[in-house]
Amino acid sequence: MKKLGLLIAIIVAVTSTSCKNSTTKKESHNSEKKVHWTYDGETSPAHWAEIEKNSDCDGKKQSPINIIDINTKPTQQKENPLAILYSPTTAISMAINNGHSIQFNFEVGDSIQYHGATYHLSQIHFHEPSEHTIDGIRYPLEIHLVHKSKQNGFTVMSVLAKEGQESQLFEFLESFLPIEAAKTKEIHQSLDLTTLFPENKNFYSYNGSLTTPPCTENVNWIIFKDPIIVSLEEVLKLKNNMPLDNYRNEQPINDRSVSLNVHH
Ligand SMILES: [Zn+2]
Repeated sequence: MKKLGLLIAIIVAVTSTSCKNSTTKKESHNSEKKVHWTYDGETSPAHWAEIEKNSDCDGKKQSPINIIDINTKPTQQKENPLAILYSPTTAISMAINNGHSIQFNFEVGDSIQYHGATYHLSQIHFHEPSEHTIDGIRYPLEIHLVHKSKQNGFTVMSVLAKEGQESQLFEFLESFLPIEAAKTKEIHQSLDLTTLFPENKNFYSYNGSLTTPPCTENVNWIIFKDPIIVSLEEVLKLKNNMPLDNYRNEQPINDRSVSLNVHH
């Protein structure tokens, strides 16, 4: 009888322990699912590294950064070769409000070449105000043109914008707004994206990361030095469709350097 009692006690103990374990696992699984990164409060950029386990968000080569112009290393086109090979009829497939930004996706076809590798344009999206700062100056808007290679390498071109006259290209892009969060709009129209760039193509470049989780590193950043001009109304229209201040704070530059590529 004593033996049987002990056996029951062991069974009860084992069962209750395993039950406890499975409950704990379930709870932590649920909370992982619920917590999603944002630009605000307890899930804001300062908390991304803890929320997004196994991400690069706590890495040493993160973006964005403050670019200090006087500390940049001048390079020539042949040392830092960039070719923008967009056609005059770049095809947009759809507009998305992903809850973090307004994003336009592109059909396959347009590409750039950077240091001899081909990167295909996949999407553009917006940050209001800018993520990168130059000599501490934060611009009203930053446009990210995300390019991917066949080997899943990233090159992101960044265009900063300041307020002034209205831009025809922005009028076109914003004609698809408003879009509610988690909604998409099919577009299937073409546009001349080359008008998105500043006339002077001098650019800063450095090795950084995606500025949203999983903050993937080894991203080539190309940031045009001159801003383009968009109207206040155009900035506000985008702002009204995105979370307030959808930018990540400045990341330490650590041992990285920034080049300034000068076109002649
Ligand atoms: Zn971005």
